Amino acid sequence: MITLNSMTKPSSKADFSSFMFSTEILNVIKKAGYEHPTDIQLEAIPPVLDGKDVLARAETGSGKTATYVLPLLENLSTKNIYRQSKLYNKFNGIDRAKSNCVQVLVLVPTRELAIQICDVFKQFSENIKPEIKCLSVYGGVKINPQMMALRSGTDILISTPGRLLDLVSQNAIKFNQIKALVVDEVDRLMKGDFQEEINKIMKLLPNKRQNLMFTATFPDSIRSLVREEMNNPEIVNMDEFVEEVPIEQRVITVNHNKKNDLLAHLLNKYDWKQVLVFCSAKKTCDNLVIKLAKRDIEAIAMHGNKEQSARSAALRDFKSGKIRILIATDVAARGIDIEQLACVINFDLPRSPNDYVHRIGRTGRAGQTGQAISLIAHHEYHHFTVIEKHNALRLKREQLKGFEADEIAPPMPRSKPKKKAKSKKSALKKNSIVEKNNDEKKIKSIPSKANEKDFEETAVNAHIWGKR
Ligand code: AMP
Repeated sequence: MITLNSMTKPSSKADFSSFMFSTEILNVIKKAGYEHPTDIQLEAIPPVLDGKDVLARAETGSGKTATYVLPLLENLSTKNIYRQSKLYNKFNGIDRAKSNCVQVLVLVPTRELAIQICDVFKQFSENIKPEIKCLSVYGGVKINPQMMALRSGTDILISTPGRLLDLVSQNAIKFNQIKALVVDEVDRLMKGDFQEEINKIMKLLPNKRQNLMFTATFPDSIRSLVREEMNNPEIVNMDEFVEEVPIEQRVITVNHNKKNDLLAHLLNKYDWKQVLVFCSAKKTCDNLVIKLAKRDIEAIAMHGNKEQSARSAALRDFKSGKIRILIATDVAARGIDIEQLACVINFDLPRSPNDYVHRIGRTGRAGQTGQAISLIAHHEYHHFTVIEKHNALRLKREQLKGFEADEIAPPMPRSKPKKKAKSKKSALKKNSIVEKNNDEKKIKSIPSKANEKDFEETAVNAHIWGKR
């Protein structure tokens, strides 16, 4: 079964054959079970095939990966349409990557996404001769095998920014054969440490190249990137195609020290087939797994401190349905594409309001109504209103019987007293905890008369994907 977000399901009966793909590519499209192009594919494939730059607004689940994978493979394949056009020299037909060289570079924020996209390239290039080589590289694993793999060159390289720069510093990679650059999830890549790395990478690439950028949001940071790096891009904005898909969003106020109990209660009470629980810290993920296990609830944690093999196994088991509950940080959960994921729970709120949308967008896919539940304690009340404001939302706060948030926040846990004499630094830290507690006491909870029955009956249906 194919997982396609219903908000972007094909709205036309157009056919893939209208794109003039070669038979090799058309056959694999058919084999994948794609009947009609999605809206983004319909709009963006033609300019990509023409070698133009494309900036597209696209969410995971819109069919965006195939939007660039298919035409780029076409452009690299023997049946290259550029052979008949003036762009032939730009793409040079049947060229294959020379030693340590790359023809198409795809930048992504996470290892999971890199692996996932590499699989899509492999899936759709299976009929192409001479074979198109595709490789994914990412941090957290040994660099030597990646350097070895790059020796013979790769036509397509999917990489996280940091590892790409490591490979460059090892002279393992040359960019002089680059024909196209794809930046997937640009909004994620244009913030924090990633942004600096992306800027460094841009300076290393040859100017003459096709640029394809995909993003779910348009923060200011990507405007300058577009201005500086893209050449008169075709703008593919999905807004006008957005169909409202109800994601039932619930916000439950709770004391911070009751969150574990509330989570366990919800997991036991509701018959969700699969649940993705988001935490902000790796340690919280691990602790939650232990706390839930004590209540006979099996869950698995996935975060950046886990070995790559453990992360891949967790993802595989979750995707196959072997694991019911996955507890993950934002970074680790990026790119998770699960068909019919019933529920997303924000155990902690995401720092960025954009991430709230990314998180809850993991549910409500494949035409199913999904649920997104945020458990908010007193110190998160204000931040949640910021998230709401940013995403044009206003959600009702609910209280669950037995888990009602107190009027005044209970004290936050103190760090364990140290046996040895405290340094100046830890004394300072302690003071800041006391100040924080005082601040929290000032925050009053939002009064709500809702009991659990009310909660179930009045859960808010908010349409976050609608036009704002
Ligand atoms: P993506 O947005 O790239 O993460 O794609 C989401 C899912 O939609 C993947 O499982 C794709 O295999 C699937 N998909 C992409 N394009 C189509 C299409 N035209 N028809 C049906 N499914 C598609």
